[in-house]
Amino acid sequence: MIVESPLKPEQASFRQVIPAGDYFLKVIQAGETLRILDLEGNQAADTLFYNAHTPTERYSAMDTLREQGNVYLTAGSRLMSSEGNVMLEITADTCGRHDTLGGACAAESNTTRYALAKKCMHACRDSWLVAVTEHEELGLSKRDITHNINFFMNVPVTADGGLTFADGISDAGKYVELKAKMDVLVMISNCPQLNNPCNAYNPTPIEVLVWS
Ligand SMILES: [Zn+2]
Repeated sequence: MIVESPLKPEQASFRQVIPAGDYFLKVIQAGETLRILDLEGNQAADTLFYNAHTPTERYSAMDTLREQGNVYLTAGSRLMSSEGNVMLEITADTCGRHDTLGGACAAESNTTRYALAKKCMHACRDSWLVAVTEHEELGLSKRDITHNINFFMNVPVTADGGLTFADGISDAGKYVELKAKMDVLVMISNCPQLNNPCNAYNPTPIEVLVWS
């Protein structure tokens, strides 16, 4: 569902461009709004959310999909935690839908999906492992890297229930906006993937904006 935001970028309290292959970590306070902006189009922003105070409570794809009765995320979607609480709500979306079924790329998935020779290529799971290793104060480990959302990624479900990784439906300047319902730690891997048609084999930067 396409919903434009009334928020103006020049009034954002925080802005940062994240190059492809980098990670991004930030606590978003309850009531703040987070925008993820696809600067050049067809990029995938692989994202995890945690309760900022108790990170064992985290985003749950299965609870979110069951509660909304739909497999795609878009404006109106309420992102549920593993404890059944609403973490964030998508309040604006100019892309139309986002994936939470496909999972993040990893050395293992690169090997099985593409080729053994792709195993050593940089993947989202590596970026998250670097993030939690460089930020021991968060108390997170690889066990905490679970369900994620692939913002801007197109993983359509076929009529007979199949999953396909398809060419992206996002474009330069499209964005998704989320209002935090609790203090959340957001951890994004701006996907470095070179083998997936979702990003036209060309990883590009994204921008994160926050309004207080
Ligand atoms: Zn990835």
